Amino acid sequence: MTATVFAGISELVTGDELLEGADHSEHLGRLRDAAVVVQNGFVEWVGPAAQAPPADEHQDVGGRAVIPGFVDSHSHLVFAGDRSQEFAARMSGIRYDGGGIVTSVDATRAASDDELRALVGARVAEMRAQGTTTVEIKSGYGLNVQDEARSLRIAAEFTSETTFLGAHVVPPDFSDRRSEYVDLIIGEMLSACAPHARWIDVFCEPHSVHAFTEDEARVVLSAGRDAGLGLRVHANQLGHGPGVRLAVEMGAASVDHCTYLSTDDVEQLAAAADTTVATLLPGVEFSTRSPYPDARRLLDAGVTIALASDCNPGTCYSSSIPFVLALAVREMNLTPAEALQAATFGSAKSLWRKDIGVIRAGNRADLTVLDAPSYLHLFYRAGVPIASALDLGGRHER
Ligand SMILES: [Zn+2]
Repeated sequence: MTATVFAGISELVTGDELLEGADHSEHLGRLRDAAVVVQNGFVEWVGPAAQAPPADEHQDVGGRAVIPGFVDSHSHLVFAGDRSQEFAARMSGIRYDGGGIVTSVDATRAASDDELRALVGARVAEMRAQGTTTVEIKSGYGLNVQDEARSLRIAAEFTSETTFLGAHVVPPDFSDRRSEYVDLIIGEMLSACAPHARWIDVFCEPHSVHAFTEDEARVVLSAGRDAGLGLRVHANQLGHGPGVRLAVEMGAASVDHCTYLSTDDVEQLAAAADTTVATLLPGVEFSTRSPYPDARRLLDAGVTIALASDCNPGTCYSSSIPFVLALAVREMNLTPAEALQAATFGSAKSLWRKDIGVIRAGNRADLTVLDAPSYLHLFYRAGVPIASALDLGGRHER
């Protein structure tokens, strides 16, 4: 097995709070003039370049910064079709109500397996090119047994973090018999999908007639948990509601959006900080021209937060975590260090993953390199494509 030392790292952000000799201000575990030894896709050693152990191969990254690869813990990459007209309509003042999802459902059902596979593969590659090394992928544009299971089978070709989202919206042919659709989700659809999924998710949103009520969401999540799946919830996106409370009550790993939060919601999230991560998706607020949640308020209360893209065809067709980071700092009152932590350590925590999000010996060697001397340039140079996943030589299975 070949060990490779990556040296010439001007600044290494490890996120490892126990790393000896590192600068631990803002919990970043930073080293200057650092090296990382990688073997078989895993980190063997981290430290000052001058102390690096011998290795079979030597690669110099040329004085650039290296950070943990971004963990994008919320995406909807399995879809076909184009909704750019809907985006344009929103920008001219039409409000989003969750109804456009059916447009993507029709296109996704009509696409062949190979077409869907090519679309997902291109989106995952686009993410890697922007520094994302782990992505969670949801179903949710099939909304029948066959197409939900197919979406998850294809997603599983690209990631182990697959999420069954049959409860994305109630499809139009079930709109006057919602309980039948919930029964289908927790029955035949769950049986077909659970073998291909690690997680189950539900769009709990009383403000949208297309989404699910608190009672419906509880039924879906309970069935998913009984089938061995971890829980995630789309909640409080369009207005105040019960989703955050439900997610905490059920011990969900992640409650996502959190755009509208009451004081009680924030207190509940803080009390559940070890269990439930609040995943913020500012690309959605950007793309729907909605108010941003105040991430500062959450951190000050002691809530664990994550940042993710929510890359999807309707409310945010951006796969860019650097874009999300820039928004989080500019619009949600986070410091650059806090935003970076949220998109690495925080999002890894929301996926129950300790082997990613922090660069330390024993973890996956998921490294992102910046064409810049410091991580601060991610924010300072917003919109400039300086981040990319470091290519270790073809060993990216996950
Ligand atoms: Zn979503």
